[in-house]
Amino acid sequence: MRFQAPRGTNDILPGESRQWIALETAFRAHASLYGYEEIRTPMFEDYEVFVRSAGETSDVVSKEMYDFYDKGERHVSLKPEETAPAMRAVIERNLCPPGTTLRLSYVTPIFRYDRPQKGRYRQAHQVGLELIGSPSVGADAEIIEATIRFYEKLGIPARANLNSLGREECRQKFREALLAYAEPKIAPLGEDLLIKTRKNPLRLLDSKSPEIQAIMKDAPNVSEFLEPECKDRFKQLQDLLGEAGVSFAVDTEIVRGLDYYTETVFEVLTDKLGAQSALCGGGRYDNLAKDLGGSATPSVGVAMGIERALLVLEELGSAKPTPSIDVYLARASEDAAARVRGLSRELRDTGLSVVTDLEGRSLKSQLGQADRLGARFAVVLGGDEVGKCTAQLRALATGEQVEVPQGDLVEEIKKRSS
Ligand code: AMP
Repeated sequence: MRFQAPRGTNDILPGESRQWIALETAFRAHASLYGYEEIRTPMFEDYEVFVRSAGETSDVVSKEMYDFYDKGERHVSLKPEETAPAMRAVIERNLCPPGTTLRLSYVTPIFRYDRPQKGRYRQAHQVGLELIGSPSVGADAEIIEATIRFYEKLGIPARANLNSLGREECRQKFREALLAYAEPKIAPLGEDLLIKTRKNPLRLLDSKSPEIQAIMKDAPNVSEFLEPECKDRFKQLQDLLGEAGVSFAVDTEIVRGLDYYTETVFEVLTDKLGAQSALCGGGRYDNLAKDLGGSATPSVGVAMGIERALLVLEELGSAKPTPSIDVYLARASEDAAARVRGLSRELRDTGLSVVTDLEGRSLKSQLGQADRLGARFAVVLGGDEVGKCTAQLRALATGEQVEVPQGDLVEEIKKRSS
């Protein structure tokens, strides 16, 4: 029996992993420029952490959770996102007492049982930022600016699409208006949907069903229900982003699929990935800490999909080339074997990457291997060279070969590399 990776998951293969490491390294460096420190939480959490945060009627909780009962009959779920687990940790460890702010970053897999397609997987990966404890509109601006600058650093042109959902009072009025609009139109589509709509009419706005999307085209818009202070705050955010030179556009259609968002929500879209157009999503979540049993902790954050960023980089033709190994150290005769082992250690100690043959292949086959690995140089040692303390240095791209003293190898390699 031969096994396959589970549907909707990807093996990140040698060659590809380099792109991942480059992106994650760039993200970590970028996050620390703004003072964000990495948090790592478990792959699974108490199921309730997600029900209380994302909301029972959200797609993520109602359809996409990998939840199960463990051997101790605890209901747990693989994490479908990182914001709620990070906040659970913050509350549990009292990491952000009232009056303080905390900047967290993360790099994590997420798990969602969804229909797999290009850019949408059952195990996906995100990098993200959370600015916890700050009610300031400056915090929203910092998160959005850091996000856009990160994409720019990667070489992905990005614009933030923004909206404000207002505070609870605004949302309550909006919810009522939406329900009044949608109820009669949704009723013919079935009892189940009607019950869900009554529970949370906002869900209709991020429905993937074309039928519902058509119904919601003329629905009332959240922007009509913003209190003056919320409008003001939204305007201040736009001023701050303008001052920072961050490219943005207001899009009053953005609602975001998780219940915990308040006021600012934003996304960065791409036209390079077909249906999966969201590169990242974020916003303010002032109620999340309370929903998870903590004290009120105004916060804002962003989650950026790693796969989608890498797919866009590939489309743009700017994926990083796989760097080759520096030296394939080949043995021309058996009596050179010990010196080959010694020299490989010496070269590695200078920072050169070195591969040697361990299987006793012929010289021809070793040089073929060097080509396949894309080594930049082959260094060949035979009994002769061992005796004279020299080595044959061959640049594999040009085939040019010179005999050099072993003591000069590193310098000769550097000279020929530049
Ligand atoms: P969300 O919290 O759903 O807005 O997710 C934030 C970002 O994570 C999205 O904009 C995507 O880039 C990425 N993402 C979320 N779910 C998936 C998935 N199933 N497959 C691939 N990427 C995803």
